[in-house]
Amino acid sequence: MGRAFVYVVLGGGVAAGYAALEFARRGGYSRGELCIISEEAVAPYERPALSKGYLLPEGPSRLPKFHTCVGANDELLTTKWYKEQGIELVLGTRVISADVRRKTLLTATGETISYKTLIIATGARALKLEEFGINGSDAANICYLRNLEDADKLVNAMNSCSGGNAVVIGGGYIGMECAAALVTNKIKVTMVFPENHCMGRLFTEKIAEYYENYYTSKGVTFTKGTVLTSFEKDSTGKVTSVILKDGNHLPADMVVVGIGIRANTSLFEGQLLMEKGGIKVNGQMQTSDSSVYAVGDVAAFPIKLFDSDIRRLEHVDSARRTARHAVAAILEPSKTRDIDYLPFFYSRVFTLSWQFCGDNVGEVVHYGDFASSSPRFGAYWVSKGQITGAFLEGGSREEYEALSVIVRRKTKVSDLSELEKEGLVFAIQE
Ligand code: FAD
Repeated sequence: MGRAFVYVVLGGGVAAGYAALEFARRGGYSRGELCIISEEAVAPYERPALSKGYLLPEGPSRLPKFHTCVGANDELLTTKWYKEQGIELVLGTRVISADVRRKTLLTATGETISYKTLIIATGARALKLEEFGINGSDAANICYLRNLEDADKLVNAMNSCSGGNAVVIGGGYIGMECAAALVTNKIKVTMVFPENHCMGRLFTEKIAEYYENYYTSKGVTFTKGTVLTSFEKDSTGKVTSVILKDGNHLPADMVVVGIGIRANTSLFEGQLLMEKGGIKVNGQMQTSDSSVYAVGDVAAFPIKLFDSDIRRLEHVDSARRTARHAVAAILEPSKTRDIDYLPFFYSRVFTLSWQFCGDNVGEVVHYGDFASSSPRFGAYWVSKGQITGAFLEGGSREEYEALSVIVRRKTKVSDLSELEKEGLVFAIQE
C-alpha cells in the first residue's frame, strides 16, 4: 500500500500551515502533488493560542478560529481551504519511520508515502517528568500543554477544580502563561521551579522581579530553588499533593507541568546531520540530504546576525518564517538568498505583553518605569559596544519595530549610563 507525492510536509503544526500558505501563494505545485501528514486530527493551527485564548473562562477561543495563518494576520486556512488548494491533508496519521535514501515514510497504519522533496516540520514534544526520574505523571489531573488534546485535558481539570489549588511545575513561558490562565479561572496557584527567578533563560533578575510581584498581587505563590520529588495520590489515582525536595507538601487539585521541550528528531537520527538538539540545515533550510528540508522547532539553522551561529529556536515567529523560506528555496532556489532571521519572541499574560528580539548576551541596561501598574519598561543587551538584544513590556507596534531595527543594525553604544537615561528614545531616534 502506498502513495506518491512530489512534496511532503511531515508534521501538521504552525510551520506546516505557513508552508502550505507559501506553496499556495507561489502556486508551484499541481493538485495532488503536495501533502501534509500530521499525527493531529485537525488542520494546522496557531499553537500559542492553547495557553492564551483557549484557556479563557469567558468566550474561549476554539477551532476553526485559530487555524493558521491568522496568527500573522493572514488567511484562515481551514480544511476547506486545503481542499480548494488541492493540498492533501493526511490527518490523525503518525509516521513511524523514514528512509531518506529511498525517499519514503512509513505510517503507523502501514502506508508507505514517497516524496521527491520532504519538509520536516515535526516540531517538539513536552518533556515528561518521567525523563527526570519522577513517576506517575499520567494521572488524570496532571497536565502538560503541547497540543489540542493536552489543552482539552487542562480545560477539563480547571473546570472540575474551581476555587481549588493548582501547582505549576516550571517557571518558563508555559508555566507563566498557564499560571495566569489558572488564576483567571479562579484557581489558587503555587509555582515551583529550581531557579532563582522565573523565565531564567531570558529574563534578568530585575525583569523577573516585576512579573513575580505582579503574579503575587494576583494571588500566585512562588516556591523557588526546589523541585518536586513525588506525588501523593488518592484511591482513584488522582494527585492530592505534590511533595517537594525541601520536604514541603503542597495540596493540589491539579498540576500543570511545563519543564521544557525536546525536538522531534528521532525519525532522522543517523540519517541527517544533527546540531543543538535539532536537525541541522543551511541558510536555505536544507538538511545534509539535498531533498530534505527542516523548519520550525525541529530545525537548527544559521543566524546571520550572530555570525551564522547555528541555533534551534522554539518560537512561533521562527516557525512561520523558516517554513516560508524553505518553500521559497524549494520552488525558486536561484532567487532565494540564505535566511537572515532576527530571533523574536513574545508572551502575553494577564493584561501584560512583552516582546524580545535578538540575543540576550552581554551587559544589560534596564530602563523605564518598573513601578507602575500599567508598566512600560525594557532592557537592552550590549556586547562589544553594540546592541545585541532588546526587551520591552507594554510597547506599541512602532516601538517594537524601532527596537528590532537597532538590534538588526547592531547599533553602537558608547555610554551605557546615557543609554539607561534615554531608554526607548535611543531606539526611536535612530
Ligand atoms: P509544532 O507546531 O509543534 O507542530 C509539529 C507537528 O508535527 C504536530 O502537528 C505534531 O503532531 C506533528 N508530528 C510530530 N511528529 C510526527 C510524526 N512522527 N508523524 C506525524 N506527525 C508528527 N511561541 C512564541 O513565540 N510565543 C508564544 O507565546 C508561544 N506560546 C506557545 C504556547 C504553547 C502552549 C505552546 C505549546 C507553544 C507556544 N509557542 C510560542 C511555541 C510555538 O508554538 C512553536 O514554536 C511552534 O508551534 C513550532 O511550530 P512547528 O510547526 O515547528 O511545531
